[in-house]
Amino acid sequence: MIREGVLYEPWEMGRTRCNVCAQYCKIAPGHMGVCRTRENRGGKIYTLIYNTVASTAVDPIEKKPFYHFYPGTDIFSMSSVSCSYRCAHCHNAFLSFARPQADTGGHLEARVPERVAREEGANRVPTREIVPEEAVALAMQRSAAGMAWTYNEPTIWLEYAHDCALLAKRQGLYTAFVTNGTFTEESQAYMTPVLDAANVDVKAFTDTFYRRICGGRLEPVLRTCERIRREGKIHLEVTYLIIPAQNDDPRELRDFCHWAASSLGPETPVHFSRFYPYGWTPVDYPTPLAALDRAYREARRAGLHYIYVGNVRGDGRESTHCPDCRTLLIQRSGYRTRRLFRGNRCPSCGRRIPLVDYDSPRETGGLAPREPVKLAAG
Ligand code: SF4
Repeated sequence: MIREGVLYEPWEMGRTRCNVCAQYCKIAPGHMGVCRTRENRGGKIYTLIYNTVASTAVDPIEKKPFYHFYPGTDIFSMSSVSCSYRCAHCHNAFLSFARPQADTGGHLEARVPERVAREEGANRVPTREIVPEEAVALAMQRSAAGMAWTYNEPTIWLEYAHDCALLAKRQGLYTAFVTNGTFTEESQAYMTPVLDAANVDVKAFTDTFYRRICGGRLEPVLRTCERIRREGKIHLEVTYLIIPAQNDDPRELRDFCHWAASSLGPETPVHFSRFYPYGWTPVDYPTPLAALDRAYREARRAGLHYIYVGNVRGDGRESTHCPDCRTLLIQRSGYRTRRLFRGNRCPSCGRRIPLVDYDSPRETGGLAPREPVKLAAG
């Protein structure tokens, strides 16, 4: 459905600036922004994908990944199409490279470029319109504990995610973004009252990588993470996908770890994830385990307390241990999770463990208490 968007302002030379993500597109009338989902019509920005849903699934929350946020629960996951980036290594290229076509009789079509279509065997992404009330009802029917906007970039889906999250919270569900971290101050402020958690992909720690591979910039992503931690209202976890010969330089990993420890704080969970080649990605072999080991050691040296290694079967570094006495607190294997303690303190040494969970009121994660969200009348 096409709907007027939020967060835009008049700009120079008859253009309109979209303030939804850090691309800050200045869009001329009749044109679209980088994400190809927002169009300037007569000086107003319209989203073409308001409630256009391309996929839904119920996932373990560990798959997002979130390890310190309602561990062991199921989350109802939704995506639309397109992205504010164009990462060459994207594993969800079928969704994120799909571009909405002209509105054909009220129903939106999404098509993918030829190179993606070759890999996927299809050039059209089927979509369905789901109003927020129905989305929340689906999540509840499927016994999910929360809702996530994921698979493609949720920031560009801001209005719909916001409206769903508002309703979800009224029903007692938690809400989460899995995002490239391109919130602007405005869009973060818009989502903060209804968003409980965000896992931000820091895709590399050089601006060169962001410009060359993603079509974005590093700085806005770092500022988003820092703002989230500073404000303390959204639970934050950070993921770094290590791609061989692209973003695995030891100095780059060291810089990332030091930034995470000093700017986000040592209690922030950090996930290092193993890359596997996909179709037309520029690297045709998986991340060597030595690179993951190196990143893990750097993170320990930088003082991070909760470091996880993902996409490696049987690695053992996906479980949560007490940073002080190394007692096993949450055991994970694949997506099987066993929480081995109650409350928010290590049962052996009493250290406080940052965890947002039913057993642990929000302040245990360093988060400020939240008022319940009320729907506006009418
Ligand atoms: S959401 Fe981002 S990429 Fe899309 S039009 Fe707005 S600023 Fe540009």
